[in-house]
Order: sequence, then structure tokens, then C-alpha cells
Amino acid sequence: MTDHRRNVYFFHKQDNETKEQVSSLKQLAESNGFTVVSQSADANIIASVGGDGSFLQAVRKTNFREDCLYVGIAKKGKAHLYCDFNSDETEKMTDATKFEQIEVRKYPLIHVKVDDTNHFHCLNEVSIRSSIIKTFVMDVLIDDLHFETFRGDGMIISTPTGSTAYNKSVAGAVVDPLLSCMQVTELASLNNNTYRTLGSPFVLSSDRKLTLNIVQDGNEHPIIGLDNEALSTMNVKKIEITLSEKKIKTVKLKDNSFWEKVKRSFL
Ligand code: NAP
Repeated sequence: MTDHRRNVYFFHKQDNETKEQVSSLKQLAESNGFTVVSQSADANIIASVGGDGSFLQAVRKTNFREDCLYVGIAKKGKAHLYCDFNSDETEKMTDATKFEQIEVRKYPLIHVKVDDTNHFHCLNEVSIRSSIIKTFVMDVLIDDLHFETFRGDGMIISTPTGSTAYNKSVAGAVVDPLLSCMQVTELASLNNNTYRTLGSPFVLSSDRKLTLNIVQDGNEHPIIGLDNEALSTMNVKKIEITLSEKKIKTVKLKDNSFWEKVKRSFL
């Protein structure tokens, strides 16, 4: 009988170099008693081979599954936030296949509701940005409180694991993923006697709801980014952002905490 807990699906780019590395990884998996499956729906382990961008796509394209483990495998010599292995570390991967050595870490996700109808998840962040060389205006509500009226280039609402990505480039804080929260950072807010914003990043707890009402003044042309994908919907009026009840599970080695990965990537 097949042990369904050992069905692995490899998600990767289709260039020759990556395909070659994945071929070796498939052999390694099979020689360690795993079954390599060709449909992600049949897998309970989804392995992304590549960088953080690939990992984000692996999670998105497989619909943020809660019933499987996501594993990030970096290419030889590379370090990425969502990767716990390098493709040439065969011994480390073989050792890790003994399940008792693997710790499971859950990563918070953001839930995005657009115009009361469309629902999305994000692992890194949702970003709202002007798509033309003009500012746009949003009313920003925290729960039912009108907090500020923003005018500028846009906003980024990031998860803790996304805090080291776009959020970090606009001086947001790096947040421990053991904290279930989301961080709001501004993109070039205009501050004058008419428009005033807090001006600093702020962190909302998992119980809070952030609502962005886009003011329809004829200059409203924001684009919405869901991790590394753009939302195709145009003329959005309302965006509600909360921390999702859903979390994705990743494998973490005992010597490979989030902060070790931050140190390895940035210091
Ligand atoms: P990309 O524009 O090709 O690359 C963005 C860079 O961000 C890559 O080096 C990527 O790492 C890295 N990255 C992604 N998620 C990360 C994380 N959680 N922590 C640290 N670094 C991370 O786009 P992409 O590779 O598809 O990644 C999409 C992400 O890019 C978005 O979710 C957003 O966070 C970020 N982004 C950043 C800026 C900015 O900093 N100005 C602007 C737009 C988007 P890899 O090389 O490992 O893929």
C-alpha cells in the first residue's frame, strides 16, 4: 500500500539547468522511499526548487494548502528566506527524511477581500500601488475607525515572513513569524495641510481588520499585487485585509530558525 504521507510534488521553472537539478532530486527522493507524483493534488509534500519567488508561486499555484508540507530547496550555493535546503546537500536532505528530525513551522497568511466579492491569500504581502505617474487617495480604516486619509504612491501590508521582502525595502521592521500579525508600510505618502498620515510603519494584531477605501476622484488607478502576481481586476473600490485563519506548514530544521535565515540572507 502506498504511504500517502510520502508523496512528493516538485514545483520548479522549466529551464534546462533547473530540470537537471530536479531530476537528481527526484532520484534522491525515490531512493529514500518517497513517491514522486505529477499532480500537486496527489502530494502531501510540495517541494519548490529555486528562490523565494518560486516558493511564493509554488504555494499560490497549489492554493495555499493546509494539508501538506511545503519545502523550499535552493539551488547550489544560494540562500533564500523560504528555503531550508540547498539542492547539493543530499546528506542533509536524506537525514531530514527521518520525520522525527523535522520540525514543522506554520507561517501566517494574509486574507484579502476585494469589493466584497473576490477573496485571495498572500504569503508575502498585498501591495496597492499607483500605476500611473500620479498619486491616488485612500481612506484607511482600522476596524471601524477612520484612521487616516492616505495620498501617495501606495501601501504594503505584509506578513511576518514577507517582512524581509518589499516591506524591508521601505524601512519596515523584520517581524518574527511566531507573531500572528500584519505590518502596514507606506509608499511615498504626501503629507501637507490637507493629507496627513502616520508616516511610520504600524503592526496590527490578528484580531484587526484593515479597510482601504479608494477615493473615486478620477485619478484612481492603483494596481494590486498579491505576492508576485498582479490582480487583473480594475476599478477596485474597497479592499479588506485581515490575517487569515489559514496557515501554511513548512519544514524547519532544528538549526535553521527564521532568525538564522535572516542572518544568513542579510548580515
Ligand atoms: P522579484 O522582483 O524578481 O524579486 C524580488 C526579490 O525579493 C528577490 O530577490 C526575491 O528572492 C526576494 N524575496 C521574495 N520574497 C522574499 C522574502 N520573503 N524575504 C526576503 N526576500 C524575498 O520578484 P519575486 O522573486 O517573484 O518575489 C516577489 C516579491 O518581490 C514580492 O512578494 C515582493 O515582496 C518583492 N518585491 C520587492 C520590491 C522591492 O524591494 N522594491 C518591489 C517589488 C516586489 P529570490 O531571489 O529568492 O526569489
